[in-house]
Amino acid sequence: MTRVFNFSAGPAMLPTEVLERAQAEILDWNGSGMSVMEMSHRGKEFMSIAEKAESDLRQLMAIPDNYKVLFLQGGASSQFAMVPINLLGDKRSADYLSTGQWSKKAIAEGKRYCDVTVVADTSETRFTTVPSAASLNFSSDAAYVHYTPNETIVGVEFHYVPDTGDVPLVADMSSTILSRPIKVGKYGVIYAGAQKNIGPAGVTVVIVRDDLIGNALPGMPAMFDYQVHADNGSMYNTPPTYSWYLAGLVFDWLLQKGGLESMAELNYSKAEKLYAAIDASGFYSNPVALECRSWMNVPFILADPELDATFLAEAAEHNLKTLKGHRSVGGMRASIYNAMPMEGIDALVAFMADFEQRYG
Ligand SMILES: *Cc1c(COP(=O)(O)O)cnc(C)c1O
Repeated sequence: MTRVFNFSAGPAMLPTEVLERAQAEILDWNGSGMSVMEMSHRGKEFMSIAEKAESDLRQLMAIPDNYKVLFLQGGASSQFAMVPINLLGDKRSADYLSTGQWSKKAIAEGKRYCDVTVVADTSETRFTTVPSAASLNFSSDAAYVHYTPNETIVGVEFHYVPDTGDVPLVADMSSTILSRPIKVGKYGVIYAGAQKNIGPAGVTVVIVRDDLIGNALPGMPAMFDYQVHADNGSMYNTPPTYSWYLAGLVFDWLLQKGGLESMAELNYSKAEKLYAAIDASGFYSNPVALECRSWMNVPFILADPELDATFLAEAAEHNLKTLKGHRSVGGMRASIYNAMPMEGIDALVAFMADFEQRYG
């Protein structure tokens, strides 16, 4: 068996140790004689799995007690709607930062429920920058401010947290959650689809401050009301039990690895090494402004796009997989979430140098 270095943006690679543990437990979880997939979500076995996952995540992210952690379905894309539905209250408008494809999708969905004020738009730089903190002026009557700390497609990332004063800050952290410590208390809502840096697809983590729960717009589906999920421990309906369990194994793995400080150090070194290799070469380039390059998604283009197919084919022969860039950007993209070890970066950098020597 060969495990490749998988640079997919999502679903992305998972830690081998986590998959091995899932494999060891697949037929018989902890002496229960059942697979986690076969368990009642209300039974004591699964309840213990769910509770441990939540408490490990709380420990990892130092989530304050006045925040609920929800394990939902529907992906980050459902949160594009759940955020306005739950946070608008008696307000009519919300502020959004438009910094890439994902924030544009959040804006389009937000417009179905409220007046969207776009307080920053970096489309003129083809989303290769983020707005400066000083340039941001938020509306005093906004119900919330929504932004995307890491834009997965272009690989642009905020290295500061916008200061929105008393207006709740909402962050789509799908592709950056757990990559480093953050101060949860600065946010009203944090949400993330699992399939990038948490676990397999199917579960969506929502961390929401207590006072933002219980104000859903009338006439909305119960499944879109944070209160319904909070009151039912994310078990109003059958939750995605196996994805929840695997997310829990990832949280446990992260704690064993030293938590988010250790991940931050490793992730920073991984990204530094890859960007340094790109910048040192005359053959590869990355268009994103230096001060807002993503630690998680590293796009790069070849001097000659005619060589793209050859690059991808030869990379695959070296067990470096899923490097093709997003169709809207072209070129390559290496997604290097927590589960990508330094060895994967070393192998990619070595391959890139060799390829440049032969074709550059
Ligand atoms: C992948 C991604 C999404 C979409 O997530 P789904 O779970 O597929 O809905 C949204 N936002 C960001 C930043 C992403 O990276």
